[in-house]
Amino acid sequence: MAHIDDSLKAALYRITCPDSATLGNFHLGLLPEDAAKLIADHVAICPHCIREINQLEAFLAETAVSLEPSTVERIKVWIAKRLPSGGQTRSILGTPAFAMRGNDTGPLMYEAGDAQLSLEVQDDPEHLGRKSILGLVLGIETEAVAARLIKEEVVITAVTLDDLGNFSFTDLEPGTYELTLSGKDIEIHAQDLLI
Ligand SMILES: [Zn+2]
Repeated sequence: MAHIDDSLKAALYRITCPDSATLGNFHLGLLPEDAAKLIADHVAICPHCIREINQLEAFLAETAVSLEPSTVERIKVWIAKRLPSGGQTRSILGTPAFAMRGNDTGPLMYEAGDAQLSLEVQDDPEHLGRKSILGLVLGIETEAVAARLIKEEVVITAVTLDDLGNFSFTDLEPGTYELTLSGKDIEIHAQDLLI
């Protein structure tokens, strides 16, 4: 049997190999002691099982990284809640600084954690058939906050907020968008924004 070829040797090894689930449990220390002892003895001499465990280890290391709290996960994420339109919220928050008057539907109002968001959707006067959005964010630090308009997971346009929390988008195709506001430690999502 000294000249047994490698592939046959491999096949013989694999006959006595524990299955992948057992190997995995062994690796994670989940097997009872005597079962673990048997597999430890086998793994010590089986190149295939060693390789399988190495692969498992690499896989676990990869997923462990993504489970660690990242800077992203320390960010407060708020889903903006649409408030009913009406004079009351409007008088509390005002309208965006450069909003045009005479829009009888009034701005769309949202509440997201500590932030209040007001969006005025209008026809873009400079681009026929296109829309513009005038936005105002109150209640949070608006320095270094970016507003992004997303359609089908693609960022269509992005701007930064001014000191007072104003921002605007122009030349937009009518449709349904998601608006995100992201700063150092907050992220606000306003979904299903129909313009
Ligand atoms: Zn084996």
